[in-house]
Amino acid sequence: MIDLKDNIARVQERIAEACRRVGRRPEDVKLVAVSKTVPPDRIRAAYDAGLRDFGENRVQEANAKRAALSDLTVTWHLVGHLQSNKAKLARELFHWAHSLDSLRLAQKLDQAAVSSGDRLPVLIEVNLGEEQTKSGVREQDVLPLAEQVSRLPTLELRGLMVLPPFFEDPEQARPFFGRLRDLAKTIEAANSPGVSMRELSMGMSHDFEVAIEEGATTVRIGTAIFGERK
Ligand SMILES: *Cc1c(COP(=O)(O)O)cnc(C)c1O
Repeated sequence: MIDLKDNIARVQERIAEACRRVGRRPEDVKLVAVSKTVPPDRIRAAYDAGLRDFGENRVQEANAKRAALSDLTVTWHLVGHLQSNKAKLARELFHWAHSLDSLRLAQKLDQAAVSSGDRLPVLIEVNLGEEQTKSGVREQDVLPLAEQVSRLPTLELRGLMVLPPFFEDPEQARPFFGRLRDLAKTIEAANSPGVSMRELSMGMSHDFEVAIEEGATTVRIGTAIFGERK
């Protein structure tokens, strides 16, 4: 498990260096370790190395891992597209949802709340590249959706998430990250009640430093921590 500890330390250093370059504080960037396809014993090792936030993209897989890890105090983040018929189970499993992409899903997640005091922090996923194959809402649909989501009593809208098109050169992703930050600002400026846009979930293993320079408050990192997925 030596490699895992080293990988985590290296990622944390790189986060700190990226923050330093733009005058931000490393503690203002949350590291979510994306553990999809990673078996529970390696998640546990990452936990033992100090990580507390983990991301999964499939409800079934997260559910299967739950029993093996139930003794850990983990904050689980849903980072992948969710079908609304799985909202109930997702609500049981996850403490954050980064991938809200429709009003219907928001309503289902809201209705799945166990009690009215239980509020789920959510981010709206934006498809800035307008890629057919990707989920997320178009830029112009974000404000109307944000206003509708903010009226749902058991969801707590915290910001936006993006998964830009893949580029070999992470610098090419920079404009997408900048656009997400600007979109969040525009939406905040509309001053709709209950709409907070403080969280920007952006940046993965190959481009998280650029994302941090552009204002990411959460980075979602899999490969750089756990190694290549099979
Ligand atoms: C898999 C995944 C990640 C992590 O990707 P890496 O390139 O392995 O860091 C981040 N976000 C989402 C939505 C993912 O599906």
